[in-house]
Amino acid sequence: MPDLCNPSFLLPAALAVPGDDHDPLAARQYPEPPHPYRAPFSRDYSRILHARAFRRLAGKTQVFTRRPAESDHVRSRLTHTLEVAQVARTTAQVLSLNPQLAETLALVHDIGHPPFGHAGEKALDEALRAHGLGFDHNLHALRIVTGFEDRYPGFPGLNLTLGVREGIIKHSRDYTESAHPELASYFLAQFPPLEAQLIDIVDEIAYLTADMEDGLESEILHLPELIAEVDLFAEFYSAVHAQYPAAPARLLTYEALKRMMNALVTDLMQTVVSEVQSLGIQSLADVRQAPHRLARLSHGMEERRRLAKAFLFRRLYESPAMLAEHEHAHQVISALFRAMLANPKMLPPDHQALAATDGLPRTIADYLAGMTDSYIEQAWQRLRLAH
Ligand code: MG
Repeated sequence: MPDLCNPSFLLPAALAVPGDDHDPLAARQYPEPPHPYRAPFSRDYSRILHARAFRRLAGKTQVFTRRPAESDHVRSRLTHTLEVAQVARTTAQVLSLNPQLAETLALVHDIGHPPFGHAGEKALDEALRAHGLGFDHNLHALRIVTGFEDRYPGFPGLNLTLGVREGIIKHSRDYTESAHPELASYFLAQFPPLEAQLIDIVDEIAYLTADMEDGLESEILHLPELIAEVDLFAEFYSAVHAQYPAAPARLLTYEALKRMMNALVTDLMQTVVSEVQSLGIQSLADVRQAPHRLARLSHGMEERRRLAKAFLFRRLYESPAMLAEHEHAHQVISALFRAMLANPKMLPPDHQALAATDGLPRTIADYLAGMTDSYIEQAWQRLRLAH
């Protein structure tokens, strides 16, 4: 495994996206003069941070719907996003990539998520399937930053750079031009730069660790089962316990989770360096044309991560407590979708106008996807009172 502290293992500088004013990936849809002292991705970072859709992440479920009786300490989609941004910046910095691009992509990576977490996404997708469409949070994020986020007189949306728009679409999956001709300008036949590739794995690492902590906090998960069933966690827990035999279990748990996250992130960075070296990758063009994505965990660590995630599915994501929340999410979204389809006047006037070009089902999905958990609950209560 490469020693990340040894400079001879660092990645060639040519692998980083330059991100200066002459970089083709810094081009904007609507040309703007360069800023006297801010770099293009730094401006994108600020535009995302100041966007309304970004602020709404505070009111959106990550995993746990925040009901009054529950803990204030579990992650929202906003705090999850900030954790991914922290890890993405560190990782890109250590690997000599462009940390500003990585952090900006992390900041925007979940902006297209609907209320109620993955249950909300599934319900919206199901509602759209009946109309031959589907819901994809990456594509919805692109619609937000190129259109719905409307705050500048000179252009629609945020007018983000090409590099950030490409990363929004492709950080977690690939699209084909035949299925998505509208995305043709985003180099669909090539992999995205490493700064974008990192986001997907960093996201996985951040939520694997966080969901264990939040699952314990919510008392859906219990420490003995985590130790008995998740080898990756148990290894760090027993080392921490041996080092601090008198410390309370709560602190041992935090320390074990911290070390687990550190091990996953270190493995990711070492594997990227190994891949780059073994494939002889020398440039950004090589990254794009490599035989596969270069950002991944080693096979051994990937298997341990997979087993840990399978545990979370078994004991947390598909636990009876969570299934009840998913059922509720499905009920709220499908009821509002049906009601708006029957009566488009329930949509605000600007969305009613969009229905003429985008079609009513897509417009309803866009409107519902933008809502926070509490806003959609209120809309649902009003609907129930009206009937
Ligand atoms: Mg995420």
